[in-house]
Amino acid sequence: MTLDKNWYTEEWAGQGSAISLKIKNKVHDEKSPYQRIEIYETETFGTLMTLDGLVMVTDRDNFIYHEMMSHPTLFTHPDPKRVLIIGGGDCGTLHEVLKHKTVEIAEQVELDERVTRVAEKFFPELCESNHDPRARLHFADGIKWVADAQPGIYDIIIVDSTDPVGPAAGLFSEAFYKNCHRALRPRGLIVGQSESPLFHAELIASVHRSLKSAGFLEIATLNFPQCAYPSGWWSATLAGKDGPVSLFRSREAATKTFTTHYYNRDIHAAALACPEFLRRLLT
Ligand code: SAM
Repeated sequence: MTLDKNWYTEEWAGQGSAISLKIKNKVHDEKSPYQRIEIYETETFGTLMTLDGLVMVTDRDNFIYHEMMSHPTLFTHPDPKRVLIIGGGDCGTLHEVLKHKTVEIAEQVELDERVTRVAEKFFPELCESNHDPRARLHFADGIKWVADAQPGIYDIIIVDSTDPVGPAAGLFSEAFYKNCHRALRPRGLIVGQSESPLFHAELIASVHRSLKSAGFLEIATLNFPQCAYPSGWWSATLAGKDGPVSLFRSREAATKTFTTHYYNRDIHAAALACPEFLRRLLT
């Protein structure tokens, strides 16, 4: 990350490209026990949070990511009651999950409590549901949490993690997926952010292979735009313990009783379409 004449620039290693956002001010900078957390006010993207110099959330485009990390999976499950979110410290995914009335408990296991405390201050609208009686916030390592979880306890596990390096690397491993498989009830689903189809197609292929080896029956990658992340094109990979992931409760998605800004039934169906280069890698 560099700051030059009020431009925040994140270079995308090995890709010969970068994103730049024009900054008004830096409003927060701390080193937590896990990472450096910075908050900037930008000229046109609202508030920006970075972790170790990488863009995590901006006011302007986070709705796409948070809605796509939650609603497609919740509308794929027949009756989601108990949801586990791993990572997700900005709490935007938790806020979307709790829009679903069937959800009785949504547990979030974030490694770094400071990410959540800083989000509560600078992204209050993402944290609006933190005090919902169905929300349970834990600050712990998600890898260990799932290894210790009671078998068959969750309907859905959402892995809203940082990139697959450092403490998040294990969240992309077969051993972790095996523990998730065990922690899921019959018809359970897992979804994880799986980076850019354009820049990280090999990683997506390896996530598919690991999920398959861990015992998941059907796997699909959802595509969506995310202009502040590498390449501007992002993905989430969804897998079913013992059921399909390409069918969803489309009538309920079309008549949902809550507001979204990106997700709808047609977006859900379109996100499941797999580009040719990815299809070749995944078969
Ligand atoms: N939307 C973001 C993205 O894709 O760039 C991710 C947002 S969220 C802030 C990611 C969170 O995952 C971070 O707050 C980080 O602390 C957390 N995290 C990383 N490894 C973890 C682990 N092993 N267990 C729990 N949380 C973890």
